[in-house]
Amino acid sequence: MELICPLCNGLIEYNIECRLCNEKMEDKGRIADYYDNYSSYLDMNITELIDKVEYDKCVHLFVCSNCNNDKRIAIDKI
Ligand SMILES: [Zn+2]
Ligand SMILES: [Zn+2]
Repeated sequence: MELICPLCNGLIEYNIECRLCNEKMEDKGRIADYYDNYSSYLDMNITELIDKVEYDKCVHLFVCSNCNNDKRIAIDKI
């Protein structure tokens, strides 16, 4: 069976708090989607991160709606 990301498929909610202002951070979706569309805008850190990501992880971008702090979280596929 193919592994799926529980977050992409709406099976779980992943709530994290912004470390700067403690507001809830919003899931903006898979980094890979950004990578496809905006690869020229991405910095090296993201590109490296994607290269290193294993097949069983899905990396999501979370952004704080309050202060725009962003964070990348690798979600374990199930
Ligand atoms: Zn995902
Ligand atoms: Zn914040």
